[in-house]
Amino acid sequence: MMLFTFLVISSRIVIKIQMKHGMHGRIVSILRVDDTQDTCIKIERIFEFGLLPLVLKSKHRKAASNDGCLWMTDDTIIINPINILSKVDIWLSDINELSNYQYFINEIVYYINGRWITRPIDLRHQHPVEYITIQNSPPNLPIYKFFLDIYIDKFGPFRNAYHAIGGIYLQISNMKQVLRQKFKNHFLYGFIPYSAASDEVLQPIIKDIQELEKGYELEINNQRVWVSGGLGVITSDLPEGNKQAGVKNHNANYGCCNCMIHHNDLHDIFFNIAKHGRYHHKTMLQIADVKNAQT
Ligand SMILES: [Zn+2]
Repeated sequence: MMLFTFLVISSRIVIKIQMKHGMHGRIVSILRVDDTQDTCIKIERIFEFGLLPLVLKSKHRKAASNDGCLWMTDDTIIINPINILSKVDIWLSDINELSNYQYFINEIVYYINGRWITRPIDLRHQHPVEYITIQNSPPNLPIYKFFLDIYIDKFGPFRNAYHAIGGIYLQISNMKQVLRQKFKNHFLYGFIPYSAASDEVLQPIIKDIQELEKGYELEINNQRVWVSGGLGVITSDLPEGNKQAGVKNHNANYGCCNCMIHHNDLHDIFFNIAKHGRYHHKTMLQIADVKNAQT
């Protein structure tokens, strides 16, 4: 079994990269390229006023930039860690204000339908470290983290009557693609009986995963290690994906689990998904609102 340890990235740490202009960027992931031991860093680029596209260089933004305003982008690049200069504290203004910071960000600059525009900073997919509290692991133990992938699909077991049964499978996504494709590495977790709610069937495994998130000590090959992990991704088709995302069926008015497009606008290829996306933190608020309205 292949195991990789994941490095921890802080949500607040934005780094300064040594490039032509001393760019800013935020670490989104730490990558290892195939079999080499080279570690690369994936960076979300952050613009200073000077880097903004011409149409966005307003007086208002110029003034903001003098107060320390920067602009986030959707643009990512992969760099070598030796290009990292230093750490810079930047306050993303949709989260609690930092006690001290050098810069702040209010807007995301992005390119859509042939032009540059901005959207508010809260319309972004938060990095997991922004909403997950990291459990402390005991020092001096090697840490093994599991990235779990749950895969759900419905199938008809009978030839004539359609009584769909859902299969739930588990994969460990730390494995390489070739290993994941092997039949022995698909772990069958169980089946969702016809007309049963998948939430109910998934309850026990969710509890187990929550245990795993807390982490525990284990002995592997005569060595004490700290094992933790969590659910990284759910793979499924459209109907099941909507169910897991808590979104109505895909033929409802707002039936997309990624964005808020209306059923009548599905033909619109210029629809701004970034602005009208379903962002996890926004969806959680909506779900809380619905629950409050019911009680
Ligand atoms: Zn959509």
